[in-house]
Amino acid sequence: MVKEEDIMYRLKRVYAEIDLDAIRNNMENMKRNIAPQTKMIAVVKTDGYGHGAAPIARELEPLPFLYGFAVATAEEACLLKDAGIAKPILILGYTFPYSYEKLIQEEVRMAVFRSDTLKELSNAAARLEKKGIHKKAKVHIKVDTGMSRIGVRADEEGLSFVESAFETDRIEVEGIFTHFARADESDKSAAEGQIAEFERFLALIREKTGREIPLKHCSNSAGILELPRANMDLVRAGITLYGLLPSDQVRKDIVELAPALSLYSTIVYIKEIEAGTGVSYGSTFVAKEKMRIATIPIGYGDGYPRGLSGKGFVLVHGKRAPILGRVCMDQFMIDVTHIPEAAQGDVVTLIGCDGKEQVTMEELGSLSGRFNYEFACDIGKRVPRIYKKGGKILYIEEYCQDF
Ligand SMILES: *Cc1c(COP(=O)(O)O)cnc(C)c1O
Repeated sequence: MVKEEDIMYRLKRVYAEIDLDAIRNNMENMKRNIAPQTKMIAVVKTDGYGHGAAPIARELEPLPFLYGFAVATAEEACLLKDAGIAKPILILGYTFPYSYEKLIQEEVRMAVFRSDTLKELSNAAARLEKKGIHKKAKVHIKVDTGMSRIGVRADEEGLSFVESAFETDRIEVEGIFTHFARADESDKSAAEGQIAEFERFLALIREKTGREIPLKHCSNSAGILELPRANMDLVRAGITLYGLLPSDQVRKDIVELAPALSLYSTIVYIKEIEAGTGVSYGSTFVAKEKMRIATIPIGYGDGYPRGLSGKGFVLVHGKRAPILGRVCMDQFMIDVTHIPEAAQGDVVTLIGCDGKEQVTMEELGSLSGRFNYEFACDIGKRVPRIYKKGGKILYIEEYCQDF
């Protein structure tokens, strides 16, 4: 356990606090909303939507209903392995052949939908055999039922791909999955159509090959909340794992979710400006009267969107303080005229709660014209992450530890 006073002095500029209890609770609350036999995949791509993949994976791994984790790339899978994660890891996107030998050896599951991938995987497993490592490539077949992104179509051509996967040496077809394009909309008919198409394809595979693929999955966060028919063997929880919503059209009352990330900074400078004074690049804000303004030492270089220029707000002493003028790379200014107690060194809440007020990623996302998923992913490497459990600091991740 890290002692709070030993580190906080060097995290004053900015830090993100990640509440591991909230993440585990979100997972458990989602589990209560799905079928008892359905297991869960925690989607931790893009470093856990900016929250930190390894600490979150370590926290969730012991959950009995957790099958494993999903990432987007070979590198993300390896980082989880390096962090000691033993449960299965699935790569959701196309995986490039340079990584096959290592991934097969590590038993990382890959999404497959191209015939050349089957051959290359089989060859990679054969090369491993020559080195005395006898492992099959475990794959999940990706089916396109409406995204038109990756995946074989749910037709005869798709069926022949499935058959060739079954027949290729050194390949084990562990799973088959598809992905919703519109499950986060209030009208679920498109998603229902995708489920029906996926189920028809599964029936076709059963009928034509007599084989049952062990793990079938299609649900994402929106599906977990509102599409019980999409439960199947596994569901893939992404954005909701972090306590964020897939869209403003999903029902918020079905599963209790709490945002896991808060973002804090500090006032580094306060001054009064006279009427007619411009603030920040381009003087897009000009004071109409005498004002008291404060400078916050973070900016778009930390992933705090420039799109919040003149639109966003932060919390100071439990009150909203609007952003004045443009957000710079490393700093921005706020109006504290109405918060006389605000002083240099005071904490500023950029995301999270302060008293009765709250700033959510969804709200900042819509103010800045940035999708909340994108907002989370873009919180930069320059922002140290503090991981808390039971209200205490478990550890911190910093990009520089020289002080
Ligand atoms: C990112 C992703 C998910 C998770 O989506 P959320 O909306 O965050 O739950 C699930 N499945 C696939 C294939 C994905 O790419």
